[in-house]
Amino acid sequence: MLNGKLTIVTLGSHSALQILKGAKDEGFKTLVVTTTEKAHFYKRFKFIDEILSIPEYSDFESIEKKLRNKNCILVPHGSFVAHLGLEINKRMSLPYFGNKSVLDFEAHREKQRQWLKNADINVPAQFEDVENISYPVIVKSYGAAGGKGYFYAKSKNDFKKKMGNFKAKHYVIQEYVIGVTLYIHYFYSPLTSELEILSMDRRYETNVDSLGRIPLRGQVGLKIEPSYVVVGNSPLILRESLLHEAYDMGERIIKASKELIDKRGLWGPFCLETVITEDSEFFAMEISCRIVAGTNLFIEGSPYSWLTYDEPMSTGRRIAREIKIAKKKNKLSQVLN
Ligand code: AMP
Ligand code: AMP
Repeated sequence: MLNGKLTIVTLGSHSALQILKGAKDEGFKTLVVTTTEKAHFYKRFKFIDEILSIPEYSDFESIEKKLRNKNCILVPHGSFVAHLGLEINKRMSLPYFGNKSVLDFEAHREKQRQWLKNADINVPAQFEDVENISYPVIVKSYGAAGGKGYFYAKSKNDFKKKMGNFKAKHYVIQEYVIGVTLYIHYFYSPLTSELEILSMDRRYETNVDSLGRIPLRGQVGLKIEPSYVVVGNSPLILRESLLHEAYDMGERIIKASKELIDKRGLWGPFCLETVITEDSEFFAMEISCRIVAGTNLFIEGSPYSWLTYDEPMSTGRRIAREIKIAKKKNKLSQVLN
């Protein structure tokens, strides 16, 4: 039972600073669970009331009881599945912001694809039979952290050569969509049934985003292959005539989640990872069903959040606001799992 003053807790990585700053601004107590070596780093930030250290992220379960006694609500982010794994996330007994049923849909590429298709969102073609591939393609291993281990192939020969060195057992061969990448940060409130776009980013991926700095003639003869490891994020504002489709896609994702996953569907922050083609068509590469790290650009809010709020509103703060309103209205069970 959650009584009295609530504490917002998260893991020390990814978007923890944003989440805890937002929680403090909304009047919560804040706690970060981090590895021993990173505790010193988190001490720098005055909005963090308490720091608990564990030897490894995977030891998280060993302190769950302690956290329950502290009236904690856990706000998950990208490091939870990446460092603790799907199973630990599912069996966590702490009050958890978001619907855990979506975790399976997020983790399984085929289920995720079905969800996007049900929402009438374009997805890149996928090829089962290597004889029938239309090039170029990107080959993506399952469970890759941040695009690590992906490869690009422009032709059948190129594909065969690279496949020879590819270690992954489970992977997909996907049409490489040429266009501008855009990551759209949504928030859906189960209390008001309203969808917001809080911000957008582009990932900066090494080395694919930096190849253009070397002219083609400087690349010829060198063995440079594009890779997709994220190192940071930069902002991008969307042409206004495309903005309505960004909202509509989000609405369709929510509707489809209520039909496909369970009645409650997806709520809280989520992100559609898209590529926009020369015909102004969005293709979704992936959906993340939690706060994404690209929102860290907007701790003070973004041009989009400013259209709705006359105060700085990050995704982290928006989560805390939702919890605060739910508590006030005695509806915490609607936002927690
Ligand atoms: P980390 O705790 O930094 O290892 O990140 C956990 C997961 O979040 C990994 O899958 C990362 O690829 C992803 N991630 C971390 N930082 C970012 C970022 N700035 N943009 C996009 N993804 C990120
Ligand atoms: P993901 O793991 O799906 O987030 O992909 C990591 C990165 O690989 C993306 O940010 C894109 O730069 C690139 N990527 C993934 N899928 C595609 C695709 N189908 N077409 C073009 N680029 C892609």
